[in-house]
Amino acid sequence: MADFDLASSFIPALHKPASLLPIARHREALLYLIETYPVTIVVGQTGSGKTTQIPQYLEQAGWCADGKVIAVTQPRRVAATTVAMRVADEVGCKVGAEVGYSIRFEDVTSAATRIKFLTDGLLLREALVDPLLSRYSIIMVDEAHERSLSTDVLLGVLKKIRRKRPELRIIISSATLQAEDLLKFFMADADAQAKPAASDALTLDELIAQKGGRTGRMYPVDVLYLESPAEDYVEKAIETVFDIHTKEPDGDILVFLTGREEIDSAVQAISERAANLHPRAQQLMPLPLYAGLSTDQQMYVFEEAPENTRKVIFATNIAEASVTIDGIIYVVDTGYVKLRAYNPTTGIETLTATPVSKASAVQRAGRAGRTKPGKCYRLYTESSFQSLEEATVPEIQRSNLAPVILQLKALGIDNIVRFDFITSPPAELVIRALELLYSLGALDDYAKLTKPLGVRMAELAVEPMMAKTLLSAPSFGCLSEILTIAAMTSVGGNIWFQHEGEKKRMETARRKFAVEEGDHLTLLNVYQAFVTKGRKEAKFCHDHYVNFKAMTRAVSIRAQLKRYLERFGLNVEETLSSNANKQPLSVGGPDKAEQIRRCLTTGFFAHAAKMQPDGTFRNVAGGTVLHAHPSSLMFNRKAEWVIFHEVMETGEKIFIRDITKIQKGWLVEYAPEFYKIQR
Ligand code: ADP
Ligand code: MG
Repeated sequence: MADFDLASSFIPALHKPASLLPIARHREALLYLIETYPVTIVVGQTGSGKTTQIPQYLEQAGWCADGKVIAVTQPRRVAATTVAMRVADEVGCKVGAEVGYSIRFEDVTSAATRIKFLTDGLLLREALVDPLLSRYSIIMVDEAHERSLSTDVLLGVLKKIRRKRPELRIIISSATLQAEDLLKFFMADADAQAKPAASDALTLDELIAQKGGRTGRMYPVDVLYLESPAEDYVEKAIETVFDIHTKEPDGDILVFLTGREEIDSAVQAISERAANLHPRAQQLMPLPLYAGLSTDQQMYVFEEAPENTRKVIFATNIAEASVTIDGIIYVVDTGYVKLRAYNPTTGIETLTATPVSKASAVQRAGRAGRTKPGKCYRLYTESSFQSLEEATVPEIQRSNLAPVILQLKALGIDNIVRFDFITSPPAELVIRALELLYSLGALDDYAKLTKPLGVRMAELAVEPMMAKTLLSAPSFGCLSEILTIAAMTSVGGNIWFQHEGEKKRMETARRKFAVEEGDHLTLLNVYQAFVTKGRKEAKFCHDHYVNFKAMTRAVSIRAQLKRYLERFGLNVEETLSSNANKQPLSVGGPDKAEQIRRCLTTGFFAHAAKMQPDGTFRNVAGGTVLHAHPSSLMFNRKAEWVIFHEVMETGEKIFIRDITKIQKGWLVEYAPEFYKIQR
């Protein structure tokens, strides 16, 4: 890298004015800093071009010579995929060629890939196989201000790798000035080298201000508050959208909600009520943006609205910083975001709608003023805004740490307490995670990873409880079935497809697959019917109200998990029930079903609950009231002891999902240590 000639192997973009983005005028300065310092911190307003442009500059400057790859991490899957598509488009290639992405269970890269967008979690996983991440010449940790759990762990790991790979370049990019902490974190390492470890934070905003240019946020945004709090923020958001639509000049609207259910219902409400608009009046086009959407669906929000139509995008926090949509003039901020919260006493991790931080609210408002002056409608009072926390608590301080501790152990980092975290996790969370991993058999009495169980659990791309279940399956003779269950619970979207207005019929169709013992066996049943009777065809799904995309994904995930197991030398004997063509569908007889339930207990014992006379559940520690989710078979059914896969919090209630009946005795049989600790 002697000079900065634009020796590009890429076809230059002809159709995009990327040269007008604020970052463009800092191109040479950036390349110089990255060449000179091992760590460069880039702070720039959202939309200034950090994510889409920097990797292209680097590639053009020759950082991919010798077949090396530039990695750009994102905390969110949706960001990794949409940004990869955008950059591929600018570069003029197909996604998966020079520009690709890789997220869990979906690798869209090839030998030709030079710029690779991936989730931070996946890069950590790659370190298991390639501890020095040697295929990358540059690793850009994007959206570092979000402080996701994996970002924090990754930063610590990169700090270690850096000592062994002085030629590696690390770029940390952030949309907010909280970058100071990041700078300190890497500066503290400076004595390891003659040169300072990090450049002074290259603050694009400052540089731009000095030169009298414009920052990523270019125009003023009027912020409006409610005079009194809203009772139902989804309803208030919908009303506000119509107010804007009927009273305000042209410009698209971005509404921040917390999750899929809220977004889907808001989109539906807008469609219904927009039917009352005068046919010649400007129309409203509602669009969703959240993580469960297919890649095609995600891309609609970026397309220009048809003539005489105003776009209104209902998005999760994804649109706060990681994804930029042009043309937004109005922002409606409900003031909530779904955040992970882990209760170390009950061992239950929930996703809960939580008030945003001030930093988030400011960031959200900023999305309105990118192309001309905009307006932000905060659906809360000004005094509520004043009482918000300054910044969101980093995820590492409020998550179940078992998955990352397992990974750190597998990376050879045994002393978790002494690991260089940018922010240390609370001791209580570390202890609880170690206890769980110990009970699962992943750690031994000295908190060392067990062989082969712990090592394999870390390698499998599913959470520790499911990993343990999979690895116990051979001894219960149900590996093929558990593999299917693991795939079906990893799909991450809804298995059931709800045709509009046909809820009743879907319920009836669904009951056909239902298995008395619970949801896991029901999922198995659906899968087996899909691959045998349904011949993996869309028609089967349509007839049975099953989501074809989700099923196709399950097939692919299953194949990937199977490859892991085969690499461990485990033989997966496929045992699709031969009578699956007949009704009622069968999951292989009562004995097999019991083996499957026992096997699930070996992994999910920590998620056990007992049904109460009133039909709700209590977890084993006793305190927490859990409700069967309406999507579960156990909704309104009798059971005694159950294990569950997932917890969701909606409003005041905590719901459990994917529930299977078990026997109390199995808990002590398969997790004696854990249940000793509890009592
Ligand atoms: P940053 O990372 O600094 O927030 P980005 O590199 O993501 O900025 O975005 C730079 C610009 O590229 C945005 O302002 C937007 O105009 C454009 N852009 C980014 N992604 C897309 C997309 N998927 N479709 C259309 N335009 C996009
Ligand atoms: Mg970005």
